[in-house]
Amino acid sequence: MTTLGNFIDGRHGASHGGRSAPIHNPATGEEIGRVALSSAAECAEAIAVAERAFPAWAQTPPLVRARVMFRFKALMEEHRDELAALITREHGKVLSDAQGELTRGLEVVEFACGIPHLQKGEHSQNVGRGVDSWSMMQPLGVCAGITPFNFPAMVPLWMFPVALACGNSFVLKPSEKDPGLSLRMAELLKEAGLPDGVFNVINGDKEVVDVLLTDSRVQAVSFVGSTPIAEYIYATASAHGKRVQALGGAKNHMVVMPDADLDGAVSALMGAAYGAAGERCMAISVAVAVGDQVADALVARLTPLVEQLRVGPGLGVTPENEMGPLISKEHLARVRGYVDQGVAEGAELVVDGRPFGHGEGYFIGGCLFDRVSPSMRVYQEEIFGPVLCVVRVPDYETALTLINQHEYGNGTAIFTADGLTARDFTQRVQVGMVGVNVPIPVPMAFHSFGGWKRSLFGPLHMHGPDGVRFYTRMKTVTARWPEGERSGASFIMPTMK
Ligand code: NAD
Repeated sequence: MTTLGNFIDGRHGASHGGRSAPIHNPATGEEIGRVALSSAAECAEAIAVAERAFPAWAQTPPLVRARVMFRFKALMEEHRDELAALITREHGKVLSDAQGELTRGLEVVEFACGIPHLQKGEHSQNVGRGVDSWSMMQPLGVCAGITPFNFPAMVPLWMFPVALACGNSFVLKPSEKDPGLSLRMAELLKEAGLPDGVFNVINGDKEVVDVLLTDSRVQAVSFVGSTPIAEYIYATASAHGKRVQALGGAKNHMVVMPDADLDGAVSALMGAAYGAAGERCMAISVAVAVGDQVADALVARLTPLVEQLRVGPGLGVTPENEMGPLISKEHLARVRGYVDQGVAEGAELVVDGRPFGHGEGYFIGGCLFDRVSPSMRVYQEEIFGPVLCVVRVPDYETALTLINQHEYGNGTAIFTADGLTARDFTQRVQVGMVGVNVPIPVPMAFHSFGGWKRSLFGPLHMHGPDGVRFYTRMKTVTARWPEGERSGASFIMPTMK
C-alpha cells in the first residue's frame, strides 16, 4: 500500500517522521492508501525551501508568472477526468460534482492569469509640482495554506494561484483525508514551468500546522475548515505577527417567501441541501418558511424528492447517483447523532435517512426535519451532512432576525418575487454572501469569497480583489527629481504647492 509523502523543492519525497494515517474510499470503507503525518522538522525544511525560492520568483515578471498559470490551467483541463475521479475516490462526492468543483477552482486560475493587470498598482502624476507618487503591490514571501477535506481541489485553488501569481512562494498543508489532489496539482505546476521550491506540499496534522503558524519565515496563513480550528489558527498565527484569513463553519438559511416560485425554491433546496451530501460550507441546512401555508407546501413537495434521492457510490454507476457518502465513519456517526438529537428534542423527522446503507461505505440517506425551533442543537450547530431543517416563522422580519441572531454568517438566500423585499434583505442581513433566488451564492473567482461573524476571522476574503490584497503589501513611493535642491530644510508638513 502506498504512503503519500510530501512534495518539496520540486520532488516527491517520503516523510521520515514515522507517523501516517489511513486514506479511505468513503464509498466502500476500504483503506486505499496512507498519508504521511510529517514532523515539525520536515515542515521547517519545506518553509526553508520556499524561502530560498522566493526572491527569484518575486523578481520574475508578472507576465511570465501569468504564463505559468495559463499552462497550469491547460494541464488541469487536459487531466480533468483523472483529477475528478481522484476527488471522487478520496472524497466520495459524485463525479459530476467533482467536475463542478474543478471548474470553480480553475476559474481562480483564470483570474490569476490576469495578474499583470491586477498587480499594476496606482500612479499619480504631479501630486505636487515635479513630484510623482505611485503604489506598488509587492509579494509577501512564504505563504501557507491549510485546507479542509470537503473541496480537495477547489479550496487549495482559492489560495495558491493568486499567491503564486502575486510572486509569493507557498507551502500547502492539505486535509489528511484526501491529500492526493494537492500532490497531483504540485506535479502539474512543475510541468507548467513553476520553478522548484516555489510551491510545496507538506502532509500532516497539528504538528506541522503549528510550525506554519509560528515559524517567523511564514508571512501569511490562509485557512479553511471548522470554526474552532479557524479560531485557533487566527489567534496563534496573528500572535506570531502573520497576516491571517481563517474561514470557518456555517449554517446557511434560505428564506422562502409566500410569493416565491415554489417549484424553483424546492429544486433549489434539493440541490443546495443534499448536493455533496451536505458537506459544503455553502450548503443550505435551514429552510425558513414564511407562513404555515408555505411550510406545509414545501414539506409536502420536498418529502417524496428526499425519499427518492439516488444515494450511492459517486463513480461507476449509470445513471449517476445524486448523493455520495460522507467522508468518514466518525463523521457518519456524528451526523446520525445529530438526527437522533433532533428527534429527542422534539423536531418532526419527516424523512429519516438513517436506515440507508450501502456495503461498508459511509452512507446516510437524505433527512428532512420539520418544526425545528431555534433552541434545538440541530438548528444551532453545523451538522455538515444531508439534513435539512424547516423552521416556520410568521413573517419576513422574524426570518431576518432569526438569521441575524445566528452565530454563523457564511451564506444565505431569499426566494421571493418581490424586489423590495429582496433589496431590504440584501441590505440588512448580517451574512457575507447573499443569494436572491440563487441558493448557493458562491461568488465568482473575480469577486471575493468570505462570510461574516464566526464564519471568517480576519478582514480579507479569499480570491478576487481581496485575494490580491491579502497576498501583497502596498508600498507607496513619492518621488521628485529636482534640478537641484535649492531651498534649505523645511520643518512644516509637506503640502501641495
Ligand atoms: P477541520 O477544521 O477539521 O480541518 C481543516 C484543516 O485543519 C485540515 O487540514 C486539518 O488537518 C487541520 N486541523 C485539524 N485539526 C487541527 C488542529 N487541532 N490543529 C491544527 N490544524 C488542525 O475541517 P474539515 O473537517 O476538514 O472541513 C470541514 C469544515 O470546513 C466545516 O466546518 C466547513 O464548514 C468548513 N469549510 C468552510 C469553508 C468556508 O469557506 N467557510 C469552506 C469549506 C469548508
